[in-house]
Amino acid sequence: MSETNPIWFDPTLCLIGGKWVPAQSGETLPLVNPSDGSAICQIARGGAADIDAAVQAAEAALEGDWGRMTALERGRIITRIGQLVLENVERLAVLEAMDVGKPLSQARADAIALARYCEFYGGAADKVHGQTIPFMEGYTVYTLREPHGVTGHIVPWNYPMQIIGRSVGAALTMGNAAVLKPAEEACLTALAFAHIAMEAGLPAGALNVVPGIGAEAGAALTAHPGIHHISFTGSVPTGILVQTAAAKNVIPVTLELGGKSPQLVFDDADLDAALPFLVNAGCQNAGQTCSASSRVLVQRGVYDEVKRRMAEAYGAITVGPAMEDLRMGPLISARQKEIVSGFLAKGADLTVAAQGEVVGHAPAEGAYLCPTLFADVPGDHALARDEIFGPVQVLIPFDTEEEAVKIANSTDYGLVASIWSRDGSRQMRLAKKLHAGQVFINNYGAAGGVELPFGGVGKSGHGREKGFEALYGFSQLKTVAAYHG
Ligand code: NAD
Repeated sequence: MSETNPIWFDPTLCLIGGKWVPAQSGETLPLVNPSDGSAICQIARGGAADIDAAVQAAEAALEGDWGRMTALERGRIITRIGQLVLENVERLAVLEAMDVGKPLSQARADAIALARYCEFYGGAADKVHGQTIPFMEGYTVYTLREPHGVTGHIVPWNYPMQIIGRSVGAALTMGNAAVLKPAEEACLTALAFAHIAMEAGLPAGALNVVPGIGAEAGAALTAHPGIHHISFTGSVPTGILVQTAAAKNVIPVTLELGGKSPQLVFDDADLDAALPFLVNAGCQNAGQTCSASSRVLVQRGVYDEVKRRMAEAYGAITVGPAMEDLRMGPLISARQKEIVSGFLAKGADLTVAAQGEVVGHAPAEGAYLCPTLFADVPGDHALARDEIFGPVQVLIPFDTEEEAVKIANSTDYGLVASIWSRDGSRQMRLAKKLHAGQVFINNYGAAGGVELPFGGVGKSGHGREKGFEALYGFSQLKTVAAYHG
């Protein structure tokens, strides 16, 4: 690689058993920079043979050094990976900005979050215990937390670093050996992470990375009989395929499939506090966030004011190349732009309250789209119910608390919700009533909190990642009942 090339490793290779090797087919795929449509580099087009080799390497790691390590030793390595990630934040941020199109400072925040996951899980490695269970006279009963074995990780393109941190980080912490299939649209930081992990002393085969197309490498991973657990983040249709494949091998899956997350703003809300969250939760990463708040439900008493202030904020949003670090970058690809444009067309009957602006010098080949705020949207409109995965938010007016809950719970999804109100009783009441895996009161997202269990209900998926809960998910419980008289 040349000195000016930000990619400091050979991106055309897979990591299998501690060695960097090309796909067995010798084939590669192009990675495209969504900011200008230019080719970044080629990546390996992994397939079933590479996945098989990766699973075998993971099995060997479990039988070898990695499987023999104590929890403390594993924790130290994962913590060390986190330290190296922190030392490489700028390099990782540049790769992610180039690959995903997210503004540089957002990419930097993702790299810091990846380090934070490693710190959290590295420190937690020797703090996950079994239990002793009081039982009949003459017995001693206890439980052991054991790894599943080889875990499969299928990661999307929108937050590669954060999703690798929460999923691979937790799986390694519990002593599993991982096979990671990053997204074909964006996989540079997955490869960079693997280089860093090896440098930190992770034994060969504990982490294997096979880039490739979903229907090829991804499908081979989910169908492989040597995989004991799958963690998937992505779309509902692919999640169904993943769960179906896992069912055939009778293995557990964690599915994180996105959402249509609402923010509920009541007449008594602190609007100054709420406003930045109302807009940012919809526009961060150009709306390509599983927990994006694409619906803002506002009580009539403050509806006009919220609409006016959100419209003002939208008017100030500038969209441009990721490296310029404006408020918003391009979408991931021309294909995603087409999908989101299709949704905008479905909103032709709606009122556009405001739009942001794509800067004039943004390359025509980039996947740019103006962020759009629709107002006065009926709760049952397609734009108020379907996941768009782009910079589009809808404002929905409501009169009563009951009506707000009914609209909030009316989609197939249930990932995140927030309540903006000063009424403590209402906060407690609604936190219980809202269909969501996470409910935020007078904030949105709690700054990403790696400590906080995360996952959905309904079509948002099942299983929990992040926090200690992920460590339970990436391990299984064995009960030992000893009779000693
Ligand atoms: P996708 O679900 O197809 O891809 C996500 C991951 O799954 C990628 O790594 C992909 O290679 C892999 N994959 C694809 N087909 C597979 C298969 N048959 N078996 C195993 N793995 C497979 O998502 P996408 O095409 O990248 O994006 C389309 C839509 O998905 C978006 O518009 C959005 O609605 C949703 N999405 C959601 C999230 C999220 O965080 N929940 C992330 C990305 C995309």
